Amino acid sequence: MLSMQNVSRIYRTETIQTHALNDFSLSVNAGEFVAVTGPSGSGKSTFLNIAGLLDQFDEGEYSIDGVSVKGLSDNQLSRLRNEKIGFIFQNYNLIPDYSLFDNVDMPLRYRGFNGKERKRRIEEALEKVGLASRMNYLPSQLSGGQQQRVAIARALAGEPKLLLADEPTGNLDSLMARQVMELLHDLNKDGATIIMVTHDPDQARSVPRNVQIIDGQMTDHRVYQPQSVSAS
Ligand code: ADP
Ligand code: ADP
Repeated sequence: MLSMQNVSRIYRTETIQTHALNDFSLSVNAGEFVAVTGPSGSGKSTFLNIAGLLDQFDEGEYSIDGVSVKGLSDNQLSRLRNEKIGFIFQNYNLIPDYSLFDNVDMPLRYRGFNGKERKRRIEEALEKVGLASRMNYLPSQLSGGQQQRVAIARALAGEPKLLLADEPTGNLDSLMARQVMELLHDLNKDGATIIMVTHDPDQARSVPRNVQIIDGQMTDHRVYQPQSVSAS
């Protein structure tokens, strides 16, 4: 599904050169759930941005769903991103004066699906996150955890090959965090491929596979036996 080989991302200023990712390799198969941890400044965002086709890299190879991204134009990259990747952010990034329905619809409109197809996808996605009955609500009428579930529905509606989640429970109290983690685990059981950045070691341990980045390099790689979900 995702293959990064010897990827380096180098930020250069006049005096300093930072290897935000340094000879980093990772392969993720369809259906996996991977947690990425590491201290602040270690390269997690850089990894996620490259994986999500939001940032370029300087060395190495990256392919997603069998497509090598090297040499693709910006247009080709954004098409690939829209088709293959769903993003979940710490801050949900919902549009405050759009209903839940319209929030989930936004990226679908952008991709040019017809109304019937969009409606099917929106209803199905909101159903999956348990918010179908509230599709006419505004985000402000929901709890933080519910808002994050709307953001997850928006990502799912694109029917992505890969879900990338950046600290998805970072703004939530522990109960709501647990509910969002349970949802991610359920989606993964149904076949979703998920890569999640988290700085919570306990949360990472609830995820089957862990990758730790320090100074742009993979420093630890563990695979856990399936276990019951406990996100806090
Ligand atoms: P994390 O997400 O783990 O906190 P980042 O990927 O944001 O880490 O950063 C990795 C390293 O790259 C850090 O040393 C950071 O200062 C540096 N870095 C990130 N973005 C930039 C940038 N746009 N310009 C210069 N240096 C950057
Ligand atoms: P435009 O820039 O033409 O107004 P949009 O802002 O609707 O287009 O979206 C630009 C692209 O970024 C779309 O592919 C959309 O799916 C994506 N996008 C925008 N905002 C988000 C978000 N909060 N979460 C995920 N994807 C987003």
